[in-house]
Amino acid sequence: MIQITMPLNFLGTVYREIRQALVDMGEMFTLLDQPPEVTDRPGARPLRVTGGEVRFDAVEFGYDAARPILKGLDLTVGAGQRVAIVGPSGAGKSTIGRLLFRFYDVTGGALRIDGQDLRDVTQDSLHAAIGVVPQDTVLFNDTIRYNIAYGRDGATEDEIIAAARAARIHDFIRSLPEGYDTAVGERGLKLSGGEKQRVGIARTLLKDPPILLLDEATSALDSQTEHDIQDSLRAMGEGRTVITIAHRLSTVVDADLIVVLEDGRIVEQGGHEALLARGGRYAAMWMRQATEVSDPERV
Ligand code: ADP
Ligand code: MG
Repeated sequence: MIQITMPLNFLGTVYREIRQALVDMGEMFTLLDQPPEVTDRPGARPLRVTGGEVRFDAVEFGYDAARPILKGLDLTVGAGQRVAIVGPSGAGKSTIGRLLFRFYDVTGGALRIDGQDLRDVTQDSLHAAIGVVPQDTVLFNDTIRYNIAYGRDGATEDEIIAAARAARIHDFIRSLPEGYDTAVGERGLKLSGGEKQRVGIARTLLKDPPILLLDEATSALDSQTEHDIQDSLRAMGEGRTVITIAHRLSTVVDADLIVVLEDGRIVEQGGHEALLARGGRYAAMWMRQATEVSDPERV
C-alpha cells in the first residue's frame, strides 16, 4: 500500500504543480482565448516603444474568411491615453485585444505601436511591452513575494515592495504574521478576489509595461471589491497607455476616450459627457446600466 500511495502522492503533487503552471500560462489564453498562431518574420526587430501610441488603421479581421469580425477599424490611442472600448457582446472587443497581442494578424489595414507594424517586430518584444491584468489572477503555490516577483526576473526586494505599495497591497501583506513570506495559493493562505487582483496588479507593475490591456469581460468581482481596486488600477495606469475593454461604469467615465463598437465598427466615440449629451448608443447603454448597476455585463 505504501509503495503505491507514496509515488501517487508524489505524482499528485507534481501534477498539481504542472497544472498550476499551465493554468498560469493559460490565464492569458483564457482572457484572449487563443494560442499564438503567428511567428516572427525573418529579420523581425524588437519593438521600440517611445511613447506607447497604439494605432489601428482600417483594420479588418475575421477568424475565418467567410465572416469578417472587424470591418475597417480606425482608432488611435495616444501615448499615455486611456481608452475604453464598450459595446454589446460579440461586437469584437476582445478580438481587438487579441490582435494587439498579435495572436492573429490583421487581414486588412495595419496595427502599429509607435509607428511600427506589429508584423515587423518580434513577438517577445511585443509581449514584453504589453501588460495584461486578468480579472482572475492565478497564484502560484508559493510566497506572496514570489507571486509578485514573477512579474520580472531579478526584481529586488525594494522593487517588489514598491510594486506592492503602488498596488495598495503592501499594508495588507505587512499585517500578515509572515509578511511577504506568507505562502499563498491552493495550499497556503486563501486570498480574496480583490487581494488576488492586487497581487496581479503588483506583478504587472513590476513588469512595468508601457501599454496595458484590461479585458473586464469575465469580471467575477462583486461591486465592493471592484470599488476597492479602482485606486490600484488607476495607479497602474499612470504614465501608460491603457486600453480597457470596459464593463465597469467607473472605468468608462474616467477614460480619455470611449469607443462604442458594434458589429466590428466604431459607431460612436468621445468623452463620457459628450457621448451622454449626444443621446445615442452610449447614452442608451449608460441609462440602462444605471438602472441595472448590479449587472456589470450589461455595458
Ligand atoms: P466581444 O468581446 O465584443 O464580446 P469577441 O471579440 O470576443 O466579442 O468576438 C467577436 C466575434 O468573433 C463573436 O461573434 C465571436 O463569436 C467570434 N469569435 C471570437 N473568437 C473566435 C474564434 N476563436 N473563432 C471564431 N470566431 C470567434
Ligand atoms: Mg469579450
